[in-house]
Amino acid sequence: MQVFKFGGASVKDADGVKNLAKIVQSYGTNQILIVISAMGKITNKLEALTKAYVSGDEKCNELFEEVKAYHFSIINSLFEDHKNPIFNDVSNTFVEIEWLLEEKASDPADYLYDQIVSIGEMVSTKIVAAYLNQIGIFTIWADARNYIHTDNNYKDANVNWEKTELEIQKHLTTFLDKGIVVTQGFIGGTSENFTSTLGREGSDYSAAIFSSCLNSESLTIWKDVPGVLNADPKWFDETEKIDQLSYHDAIELTYYGATVIHPKTIKPLQNKEIPLYVRSFLAPESEGTKISNVKIPLPIPSFIFKVNQVLISIFPKDFSFIIEESLSTIFNLFHKHKVKVNTMLNSAISFSVSVNDSEKIDLLIKDLSETFKVKYNKGLELVTIRYYNQNTIDRVIVNKDVLLEVKSRHTCQIVMKEKKD
Ligand code: ASP
Ligand code: MG
Repeated sequence: MQVFKFGGASVKDADGVKNLAKIVQSYGTNQILIVISAMGKITNKLEALTKAYVSGDEKCNELFEEVKAYHFSIINSLFEDHKNPIFNDVSNTFVEIEWLLEEKASDPADYLYDQIVSIGEMVSTKIVAAYLNQIGIFTIWADARNYIHTDNNYKDANVNWEKTELEIQKHLTTFLDKGIVVTQGFIGGTSENFTSTLGREGSDYSAAIFSSCLNSESLTIWKDVPGVLNADPKWFDETEKIDQLSYHDAIELTYYGATVIHPKTIKPLQNKEIPLYVRSFLAPESEGTKISNVKIPLPIPSFIFKVNQVLISIFPKDFSFIIEESLSTIFNLFHKHKVKVNTMLNSAISFSVSVNDSEKIDLLIKDLSETFKVKYNKGLELVTIRYYNQNTIDRVIVNKDVLLEVKSRHTCQIVMKEKKD
């Protein structure tokens, strides 16, 4: 059997759902489990809705009406028969949230976030499953919360692999003998039966969990790009598709911020040597990229850009050496504020890191300043070049001032800013 993952962009409208159905149909088999994200940009909207709800902002109701209207417009164009149970099914899902929104927000914000934001996936999968059934592809809708078991670290839940594997193998293999199975990405269930989520863009990770637990032949992530490219077309004019990629390079690229696949996706696949295909839902006949156990290095240098970087430099107050003990204090503070380090460099009397700018940074700097002297510089760019050479470095630093450069054998990272003239 194989696992497919379709993200929000692939099901952003009725045509997207029809296109998904065509792709699935072309395989002519039952043995496919399909993991789907929320439609279009609905997760962003639900995130804004939750924020409004928690802060008691009136805008909450307006946003909820928009979420409903968006889905019903898709349902209306997919289902001519208004007696199709999907109309009721989706209405009922929304009613559950309506009840919640009527109450004052008293539960913890992260818990509320997961209960509300998860309906994006609940509704998208219901619509797709109903549509596949309508066109004669027998489809079973499965509630991922019964299979992906997590702790209650809401908004970024951790998977209980043992329980997850057991439940998936117990039920889903039988379902797959009967029909196509459609389930949600991004969400899981806690031991108290509450909904949890795995972190933004976590549907790829969900798909990898299902693949691993089902020992699938392969996982295919259907995207709006032809495969894994050597740079994001948003930042680079000339990009090239990479046909074959090792798990190792894929982990490195996603770790440094390549957004084509979620960084947590590769490990579960690598452990079982399940190949991952990244293919275009716009050109399903094209080959895409195969990520597997190959030993070949990347054929071309790859570039990953991150903007909105803050370079934080940390010095001991008394000019003593940065020693292990200081590093452990520093790392504990980064951990406490949940700030991820994108690159770092330490010298005898300073330690510098580049991190994404966010509202957490000011608090982190405040905490660091209690023990250390701290300097920081905002509005920077970080470029990571995998399989770099001097040419590629020269190319990215045109018109830039370089603040930090860190090199390992295959990877070069440069923190820089626009040159002032
Ligand atoms: N819908 C979720 C998000 O947008 C999960 C995903 O798309 O992977 O973050
Ligand atoms: Mg998404």
